[in-house]
Amino acid sequence: MSTTTLQVPEVKNYIGGKFTNGTKKSMDIVSPLDGATIANVPLSTMAELNSAVEAAQAAFKTWSSTPIKERVQIFYRYKTLMEKNLKELAALVQKENGKTLDEAIAEVEKSIELTEYACSMPQLVAGKIMEVSRGVECRLDHKPVGVVASIAPFNFPHMVPHWTIPNALVLGNCMILKPSEKVPVSSMRIAEMLKEAGLPDGVFNVVNGDREIVEAICDHPGIQAVSFVGSTKIAKVVYIRSTSNLKRCLALGGAKNHLIVMPDAHPDMTASNVTASMSGCAGQRCMAASAMVGVGNIDHIISKICDEAKKVIPGKNLGAVISKESKERIERYITEAEKAGAKILVDGRNTTVAGMENGYYVGPTVIDFVTPDMAIAKEEVFGPVIAIMRASSIDEALSIENGSAYGNAASVFTQSGSIARQVMEKASAGMIGINIGVPVPREPFSFGGWNDSKFGVGDITGDSSIEFWTNLKKTSIKWNPEAKTNWMS
Ligand code: NAD
Repeated sequence: MSTTTLQVPEVKNYIGGKFTNGTKKSMDIVSPLDGATIANVPLSTMAELNSAVEAAQAAFKTWSSTPIKERVQIFYRYKTLMEKNLKELAALVQKENGKTLDEAIAEVEKSIELTEYACSMPQLVAGKIMEVSRGVECRLDHKPVGVVASIAPFNFPHMVPHWTIPNALVLGNCMILKPSEKVPVSSMRIAEMLKEAGLPDGVFNVVNGDREIVEAICDHPGIQAVSFVGSTKIAKVVYIRSTSNLKRCLALGGAKNHLIVMPDAHPDMTASNVTASMSGCAGQRCMAASAMVGVGNIDHIISKICDEAKKVIPGKNLGAVISKESKERIERYITEAEKAGAKILVDGRNTTVAGMENGYYVGPTVIDFVTPDMAIAKEEVFGPVIAIMRASSIDEALSIENGSAYGNAASVFTQSGSIARQVMEKASAGMIGINIGVPVPREPFSFGGWNDSKFGVGDITGDSSIEFWTNLKKTSIKWNPEAKTNWMS
């Protein structure tokens, strides 16, 4: 599909099964590909949130008591609809986010996989029953929490909402999604397609907005659980505010992922993995390689990384970054590193794409001889940039990785099982890669980091998410009056 013929849906709130235009305040949505305005997003207020919570509360009564095997049928249909409309959904993601079409297709395919996993939920929450003493049995049921909220970032407009929507809804909750105000378009199609699949009105709602609506979600007494994905600064605010209002909260934050490269690493495989990890989605992935620690002499691998990076061409196999401010921030980090003594081997500053001169592009950037005290070594850059540090031993490399405030992912490239095992044991991160640059666990394994990359208990996807989206109900049952009564009866 050509993106020029793409129909961008009007962005509205979606409350109780209806698209509504409730609020006067709005903001332009600009495509990072070419800087053109493509839509307008309403900035909702408490009034719209109240309506969405009321709609969700009303729907919860019937939805939560619908058997899970019936609830799941809607998601089988929804999955088929996503498959049928894959190209259109991907083109919308590309338009609003700026990533390449291939990356956008992979993103929607991941939403399909997440939905497929949710369809197996009836088997996963079949519960437990056991005769615990003569004539007495205990049974365990997973019950939905109630009205829940999901607050999303800009970098995966389709996939990150699917980290929460299918699991939370199949498990019987009703949801209010607050998409990123920078990329609200995909959520319109999510709402339309859920309705087309047969989801009852009010089970899924979208309230657009910015800070005001996020704070209102944290405070709203009608919302029982809040999931958040975004930067660490805001994750902390949302976690503290939601939990102080006695809600359960899982807040995923930013990242600074380290790749450790040993001299025995396979040079070609390592170079292509490092480059793909740092430049995929223009480096705007919380799983992107952002720092690399080379142990001993790895000059031959760095030279191959530079060769690979030069094959990554903005506007072709490298998308745009989200905004002018992002482009400026990324370029500032590069310039400051250079001023502090680092060596720029491949320089992506001042990049433009012919015919898309108003787009926001940063070319792939490889920086060597970065030291752990530099800002580019410590802070999240969120652009197609790899900062290479040097270490003389695996212990030194691990201590650099352990020194990071974040803890989403860490990887090692080596042919030594013993070194791989050390990294697996000692890296301070939730997701570890052995010769893999983007170690995203696939379902049923769960997604979630450690340290400043996640606040709250458990992970956001996979089996771990079941505890977040449900309450456990334990029932003790006796029907037989002859069963002996003891002190526990
Ligand atoms: P962000 O924190 O700026 O925004 C995320 C959400 O918070 C948005 O919906 C936004 O409207 C809201 N928000 C923004 N400022 C707010 C404020 N002051 N008060 C209340 N709410 C506010 O994040 P972003 O720039 O959209 O996304 C990029 C960030 O998300 C990166 O740090 C990236 O690492 C992180 N991220 C993390 C993961 C993960 O799994 N850990 C996944 C994807 C993205």
